[in-house]
Amino acid sequence: MAGAEDPAKPAADSSETRLARLVLALRSQGVSDPGVLNAIETTPRDLFTPELFQERAWEDQALPIACGQTISQPFIVGLMTQALGVEKRDRILEIGTGSGYQTTVLSKLARLVYTVERYRTLMAEAEGRFKQLGLTNVITRFGDGGLGWPEQAPFDRILVTAAAPGEPKALLSQLKPTGVLVAPVGKGPVQELKRYRGDGQGGFDVEILTEVRFVPLLDGVAREL
Ligand code: SAH
Repeated sequence: MAGAEDPAKPAADSSETRLARLVLALRSQGVSDPGVLNAIETTPRDLFTPELFQERAWEDQALPIACGQTISQPFIVGLMTQALGVEKRDRILEIGTGSGYQTTVLSKLARLVYTVERYRTLMAEAEGRFKQLGLTNVITRFGDGGLGWPEQAPFDRILVTAAAPGEPKALLSQLKPTGVLVAPVGKGPVQELKRYRGDGQGGFDVEILTEVRFVPLLDGVAREL
């Protein structure tokens, strides 16, 4: 006997088993917020993963997507979402839609998610996924997210999923006085994941949460062929 019917060869794990294993891995690394874990558990990561990497959709790894960008590692998505401390009534601004995976996780926790992407192709693909999932609280914009979304400011929470070279001042100015912004900050291949919490008086308490590796936040929109 050979191939799929070989009794000595274990069948591939189902998506459910792989997802359960992923959620356990996140828990063991400190993602403990039940709402965040539930949002990750109910987001089909395979939908956001390119055909070529389908087998790896449930691994706790960042994977390549179109336009030379990446879909973030689930642990980092869990960590950043937890650090943001999202509340049900929140209006969130996300910079760097990419595949739309992180956007979808946020959409399950907040009232409205505004998301900005500088690649038209990625934005169009992500919009297709939001539609397929029936998400009604995601508002998209093709543009330079480094400038934020002034017409919709101020936001309760801002999440930046590309590495800002320095303090994200334009974005901080679009946060509510006691809002929270989480962003990778740094110019090199490894950045500091920072959390800025508004003190209510125009200042911020800043914490470094961990080290991360994100693609850079670039100026302007991308030119595509
Ligand atoms: N959160 C995404 C990961 C995105 S990778 C996911 O879950 O799949 C970072 C994304 O930020 C890339 O798609 C990149 O094109 C985008 N990006 C970089 N600079 C940007 C800018 N100035 N404005 C908007 N998007 C930007």
